[in-house]
Amino acid sequence: MDLHLTDRTVLVTGASSGIGLAVTEMLLHEGARVVAVARDRSRLDEAAAALGADPSRLLVASADVTARAEVEAAVAAGVDHFGSLDAVVCNAGRSLMASMSQTSDEQVRDELELKIFGAWNVIRAARPHLAASPVGAVVNTNAILAKQPEAKLAVTSAARAALLNLSRTLGEELAPEGIRVNSVNLGLIDTGQWRRRFEAYRSDGGELDYDVWSADLAAERGISLGRFGRAEEVAFAIVSLLSPRASYITGAHIDVGGGVTRQP
Ligand code: NDP
Repeated sequence: MDLHLTDRTVLVTGASSGIGLAVTEMLLHEGARVVAVARDRSRLDEAAAALGADPSRLLVASADVTARAEVEAAVAAGVDHFGSLDAVVCNAGRSLMASMSQTSDEQVRDELELKIFGAWNVIRAARPHLAASPVGAVVNTNAILAKQPEAKLAVTSAARAALLNLSRTLGEELAPEGIRVNSVNLGLIDTGQWRRRFEAYRSDGGELDYDVWSADLAAERGISLGRFGRAEEVAFAIVSLLSPRASYITGAHIDVGGGVTRQP
């Protein structure tokens, strides 16, 4: 099926790794043009080289999504290079595995800033361009934690709930401008985040290999499909929501969690 993304321009944050990289690859495959954003320029360049896309299809732009001026510069660079911007994927980020007693005030502020401004800065800067597009769309990467909080991810759970509500209210506010806003709520997805946690587990003396360690975690979390998700499985949901074929979907959120959801 043609997703009608050919020659559409999409800005993807967190595009150098994991889910953002998989989204970038899928968009390029669909004929879209991508502005790939992350902080570390060398990792972005490596990712772009691995994708093998030429500059007429892929532009890399280094920016911290919490820094308004850097985000505005990345959006401007994308529009300057490609002539338009049709959609954004607010995906950059990480989570903070810590309970209240393990979390400093500074970490609380950092986590809330990353989750909120990581979307806020990008959507605000992109808004006039998305409004000018006949197919303006936003997809925010979020987590099932937004609805199903965990004490060992105290601030992240709160920040996720805030982002979920922001996605829903922006879906309403931006609809008159023809911009759809949706989000995907993720369970456990096999990306850099989990590889780093596995390395920490091994450094602490853990002996399981990655497959056993991740299968144990999937069982502990009650994931019906019994495994971590793959980045390309998330990318499919995100790219589908970006597609103009999803033209009647806004203010919605889709769980991509292998059946981990226990609450509506
Ligand atoms: P990865 O660690 O593989 O990739 C994270 C990406 O975000 C990198 O490109 C990183 O590049 C970029 N990034 C991080 N912080 C910033 C920042 N402040 N500004 C710009 N770019 C940034 O993670 P995932 O692919 O797993 O995660 C993607 C999103 O999905 C995140 O928001 C994550 O919280 C969310 N998520 C993931 C889950 C999972 O199980 N994997 C579960 C639930 C949600 P650089 O460091 O160079 O900036």
